[in-house]
Amino acid sequence: MDTIVLKFGGSSVADHEKLKLVANRIINLYNKGNNIVVILSAQGKTTDKLMQEAKELSPITINRELDSLLSSGEQVSIAKLAILLNSMGYKAVSLTGWQAGIYTNNTNQDAVIQYIDTARVLCELKERKIVIIAGFQGVNQNTDITTLGRGGSDTTAVAMAAALKAKNCYIFSDVDGVYTTDPNKVKEAKKLAALSYQEMKEVASEGAKVLHNRCVEIGEKFKIPIITKSTFNNKPGTVISDIIEEDTIKSIIKKDVSRISIVGNGVIRNVSMIQQVLDLIKESKLEMLNFEVSESKISITFKDIIEDAILVKIHNKIFS
Ligand code: ADP
Ligand code: ASP
Ligand code: MG
Repeated sequence: MDTIVLKFGGSSVADHEKLKLVANRIINLYNKGNNIVVILSAQGKTTDKLMQEAKELSPITINRELDSLLSSGEQVSIAKLAILLNSMGYKAVSLTGWQAGIYTNNTNQDAVIQYIDTARVLCELKERKIVIIAGFQGVNQNTDITTLGRGGSDTTAVAMAAALKAKNCYIFSDVDGVYTTDPNKVKEAKKLAALSYQEMKEVASEGAKVLHNRCVEIGEKFKIPIITKSTFNNKPGTVISDIIEEDTIKSIIKKDVSRISIVGNGVIRNVSMIQQVLDLIKESKLEMLNFEVSESKISITFKDIIEDAILVKIHNKIFS
């Protein structure tokens, strides 16, 4: 029997209707005879709201208490999904980070997973239960709750997939894969069928929210294929795995307000593309502060704030 890890992000579990869609997806895969481990984020914008509330209560951050507060969002979503699945006739159990054996270091709000004790999860799977685990959280050696940094549920998912030697790790989101750039900013963005771990690490660390960069490192280390798909349709997603050799440009990312990166194993060999981008920058009268080139990435830092219109122009020049 294969074990499959499925992670659903905040927008996928934002309300009870969406939770029902998620439950049906899970049941479908469970009925095919798989062991199912689900990792959930907090519903919608819950984590942002909790962060804001902590700030309203005090200008001083008490890291231990902030992690207790932030982690509560995931505890709500996992319990809700377990209640729903049980009501639909499926045995499901929700586990917080510590119940699922996720041990981290002591760094609050950016904790690193050090060890996963899979005993409890394996025991529940043996009873054919659907195991639903809170993303984004663990426990440190003092038994205090820690959180893994914003977007950290992706990292929980891939780490759990590695610990359980799962076949795949599916990351379900509001987008149906990784695109040539943020599809919510550039309507011409195209979905990519595949990226190497190396490329995805660059894309994620340059700020494309679609995957937490630490999850890609774990996937690469333990050879877990990561498949990003939409919660809301059945279109094929993007597979992140080992690709032996490829020679294309994959994605463009705008980080913060003044940095643009172009990623792909083919970047360094594509001199004409580099020239076209430089010409476009000159035409647009933009001043560059820094131009870095590496094996699979070009990053440009501009002097001033870069509008999304420039991202659109560069994207369309490269991918048209
Ligand atoms: P979730 O809540 O499911 O974890 P996130 O909001 O963290 O989802 O990540 C999905 C978002 O990532 C998309 O809505 C999209 O706007 C953004 N994004 C940025 N760059 C890309 C890209 N290259 N491909 C796909 N999505 C991207
Ligand atoms: N709920 C957390 C956040 O909003 C973790 C996650 O969604 O991955 O950052
Ligand atoms: Mg996310």
